[in-house]
Amino acid sequence: MKRSFALKNCARHINLRSLSTSVPRHGPQVCVIGSGPAGFYVTQHIIKTLPDAKVDIYEKLPVPFGLVRFGVAPDHPEVKNVINSFTKTAQNPRVRFVGNVSLGKDMSLKDLQELYHAVVLTYGAAQDKTFGIPGEDLENILSARRFVGWYNGQPGDEKLNPDLSVDTVAVLGQGNVALDVARVLLAPIDQLKSFDITQHALEALSESRVKRVLLIGRRGPLQAAFTIKEAREMVKLENCKTVFRLEDFKGVKEFMPNVSRPRKRLIELLTQTAMEPKLELVEAWKKAERSFEPIFYRNPVAFLPSVSTPGKVGAVKLAVTKLNGEMSETQSVINTNEFEELKCGLALRSIGYKAFAADPDIPFDPKQGIIKNSQGRVEGLPGVYCGGWVGTGPVGVIVNTMGNAFELGRVIEGDIKDGTLNSNIRKPGFEEAAKILDNKGVQVVSFKDWEKIDSEEQNRGKPSGKPREKITKVSEMLNIAGN
Ligand SMILES: Cc1cc2nc3c(=O)[nH]c(=O)nc-3n(C[C@H](O)[C@H](O)[C@H](O)COP(=O)(O)OP(=O)(O)OC[C@H]3O[C@@H](n4cnc5c(N)ncnc54)[C@H](O)[C@@H]3O)c2cc1C
Repeated sequence: MKRSFALKNCARHINLRSLSTSVPRHGPQVCVIGSGPAGFYVTQHIIKTLPDAKVDIYEKLPVPFGLVRFGVAPDHPEVKNVINSFTKTAQNPRVRFVGNVSLGKDMSLKDLQELYHAVVLTYGAAQDKTFGIPGEDLENILSARRFVGWYNGQPGDEKLNPDLSVDTVAVLGQGNVALDVARVLLAPIDQLKSFDITQHALEALSESRVKRVLLIGRRGPLQAAFTIKEAREMVKLENCKTVFRLEDFKGVKEFMPNVSRPRKRLIELLTQTAMEPKLELVEAWKKAERSFEPIFYRNPVAFLPSVSTPGKVGAVKLAVTKLNGEMSETQSVINTNEFEELKCGLALRSIGYKAFAADPDIPFDPKQGIIKNSQGRVEGLPGVYCGGWVGTGPVGVIVNTMGNAFELGRVIEGDIKDGTLNSNIRKPGFEEAAKILDNKGVQVVSFKDWEKIDSEEQNRGKPSGKPREKITKVSEMLNIAGN
């Protein structure tokens, strides 16, 4: 069985090689894997700087834009404006969107290397990091990644069904994703209704009994990983008071003159809110029914079962931590022998995303969680590049990803222009890929097909005044695309 498959594969490769000489030269053929910000920005650079290049963007899902669609919080619609520029790129006659095609499943890296001069891997970081601590498999301990997917319509997350009949949620982690989920849990439902949050999430959130969200982090306020915009939104959130532990701020005010410029305003906001909140906030908080409670210097060591429902999480056990060395914004942290238990009925792990090798031929560094590369050139694979979160690790916002992708674009441009990458050999590109996909019975979704899905989603959103109602089932997307 295996052998016949190998023979078939081999025949196909031979066939491809012969085909690649019969296709007339039409400039560098580049394929980009993943249609998130990294994929689109690298495409923009290639199209701009290499006038005869063609770029095919392969995407696992029938819909484009990666975490701009499935990550960015629904109540931050302005962040999604990048979609306008990505759409223009996708409509460029030299760019082709090839949706519903997954590297590692529908196409192998070897296939793509045969068909294209350059293969650019920008497929993101879509797995979860876990703590690996006792009790982590209890019910109602979820990854923030899937919770975000649930309210943002990520296919596969629509049935997550988080139990929101609980009083307290522990969010473990203090980055911006942690703040996004805290805000979605605590915001008045009327403030979410007009955005593209999924209907199933809206319904569940409107019946939520959650009163407190604890935002637990290992380090102190000086090292907080979230940014000022998100922190300010929490402090000002309607019907919600922010409750800090005053002891967490010991020495912070005195250290203020040494805080680096970009973080100064954030640390000032946290210190002021904790120690001398403005009068109007204090007044508003008196009536608040919900609370947002950042807790610093705590590291989860176990999840404990609920007393009434033992299969479910009932509390999180935290080690009290302390910081090493002199006070600074980058101090490392260690656990002490002191512990604290905090009750919670739902725990959301928000400690980051993780990349993986989508194809066995991709050299992957599991320790750093990235594809092995130097300046975006994938180790040991000439003509294969990587960028965005799969190349840098899952850090930073879209602007950082954009910078990285433009840098990668310059590397590819240089390699093509100086002949490091020989684009004079003829390569068939999508012409041949289409045959492979057709043989496998894969329904390819074009950008025009996506526009049909897009317009259907927008129509479905109209009755409830939302910009769109996202379709969450791939089969339904494919039906619309195919009609
Ligand atoms: C919850 C969350 C909220 C965020 N909010 C903000 C924000 O408000 N503002 C901001 O500036 N930044 C925000 N970011 C950061 C921003 O989303 C990232 O910087 C950016 O999306 C990374 O881009 P990328 O292209 O590397 O990865 P992604 O955006 O993840 O894109 C990767 C694409 O590859 C596709 N793919 C995966 N596997 C395959 C495969 N095998 N074959 C083909 N395609 C594949 C995926 O479906 C996806 O479309 C947020 C991130 C998260 C996680």
